[in-house]
Amino acid sequence: MVGTQSAGAKSGNTRAFEAKHEIYWRETEHVVPGPALREDVECDLVIVGGGYTAMWTAFFLKQADPSMDIHILESEFAGAGGSGHNDGFVTPTIGHSLSALVHRFGAERAKLAYAVIGKSMLELDRFCRKHGVDAEFERTGYFQVATNEAQRAMLERDIDLIGKFGSGSAIELLDAAAAQERIGSPAIQAAFKVGGALINPHKLARGLHRVVTEMGVHVHESTKVLEVNRTSRGHVATTPLARVTAPNVLLATNAYQHQFSQFKHKVAPVWSYAAVTEPLTDKQLAQVNWPDREGFVEAGNFIVFGRLTAGNRLLFGGGKVEYHFGRGMDESKYIDSPAATAALRAVLERYFPQWRDVRFSHTYGGAVAMTREIIPHVGTLGDGVFYGHGYCGNGIALTHAAGKVLRDLILRRDTTYTNLLFVNGKEKPYPPEPFCYLGAKGLSALLAAQDRYPGLIRGQIV
Ligand SMILES: Cc1cc2nc3c(=O)[nH]c(=O)nc-3n(C[C@H](O)[C@H](O)[C@H](O)COP(=O)(O)OP(=O)(O)OC[C@H]3O[C@@H](n4cnc5c(N)ncnc54)[C@H](O)[C@@H]3O)c2cc1C
Repeated sequence: MVGTQSAGAKSGNTRAFEAKHEIYWRETEHVVPGPALREDVECDLVIVGGGYTAMWTAFFLKQADPSMDIHILESEFAGAGGSGHNDGFVTPTIGHSLSALVHRFGAERAKLAYAVIGKSMLELDRFCRKHGVDAEFERTGYFQVATNEAQRAMLERDIDLIGKFGSGSAIELLDAAAAQERIGSPAIQAAFKVGGALINPHKLARGLHRVVTEMGVHVHESTKVLEVNRTSRGHVATTPLARVTAPNVLLATNAYQHQFSQFKHKVAPVWSYAAVTEPLTDKQLAQVNWPDREGFVEAGNFIVFGRLTAGNRLLFGGGKVEYHFGRGMDESKYIDSPAATAALRAVLERYFPQWRDVRFSHTYGGAVAMTREIIPHVGTLGDGVFYGHGYCGNGIALTHAAGKVLRDLILRRDTTYTNLLFVNGKEKPYPPEPFCYLGAKGLSALLAAQDRYPGLIRGQIV
């Protein structure tokens, strides 16, 4: 979908040279990671990973049972993973698309799952207000947009499906003129509005860290888990300086989840890229009509999306994602992708030619956890082992809902949450290398070709 051969792409290489390859959000709130755990601990629940999944689960468990002793072990700092560096679109999306979900699970189960995620979106907002978490929450919603006829047909199909759900008032498909009154981009040919919000993900993660700590959850930063073993005394998480033993363990490392043998072939990290501009001046802001500051997401296999930050920077992201052989996760190697940056520069020029000279201040990538079926998986392996992973790039609201699912599973309750369509499902494994790598390359090329030549390759590939 995103061309890398255009003149814009070439000019992007020059400008991108000036950008920092660092996660923009981290500049908005400085973090000094807490000290490593140094003493052995016995507790009720040990959680590996300190992102949203871990912290929401701890939050809901503490609400349900304040006496529960919970220890979170995080190798860097709370929010160092996807939770602190995502693009901040709070969406109701589950997996690849609404139509794929309905096709696989039926309309009723899909509708229930969407209702639960919708509730989570509202509760996230309430949580921030109640606990004084300044996550720069903007209750704008966002537009699903089309830039060609094939994408327009996808929007029509989604509106039709949402209509069949019978949820509230009919959704209107805006034509090019009406859509451009909302977001003044000549690229946008049609759009419909989706309920949702924009946030600063890092500040949400840090705020959540503060709240759960105040509730009595022990969050040990700078504490990498080297292995988790079953012993007669319970599950033991071994870290460089201490061990934590508990009857229950939650593996909540998402894109890093393949480090655990049970999930080695279940999660594949794919790198998705974003570019952030320098703050737009009042004069630049006045060049584009964007009265309500909604984000936008282009309908396509490799989505392109854009939004304004609270400080009036433009954040652009998406395009073709990259999978690296052997589930490559080395941030120092992959955080910068000149090809992705060039493609994003071309996207900026296509969407907002008025801002073609605006400079990128940051360009960076992050690992999104993809599952074979492109839906998240939350559940238990039995014997006190729990997991939540594979949010496929839409985890802000989903992890909040996953926290409730995991609360109920850990408390051994059978509830609406524990029967949702993404709970305890059978997970299809990815093939071993080199087949995983070759398959990812082939699929990626096919999906990109469909985005670029929608008339030639029809139908839903995944
Ligand atoms: C680039 C990018 C953009 C995204 N954009 C959006 C978006 O706009 N909207 C949306 O809804 N979702 C988005 N997502 C998805 C969302 O960020 C994730 O689904 C969500 O943050 C997952 O939270 P988590 O807690 O499961 O995982 P993470 O936040 O990744 O937390 C896992 C943690 O585990 C730690 N860890 C790993 N191994 C170990 C170990 N051995 N010992 C101890 N700790 C360990 C890591 O340091 C990390 O902090 C995006 C993701 C990425 C990567």
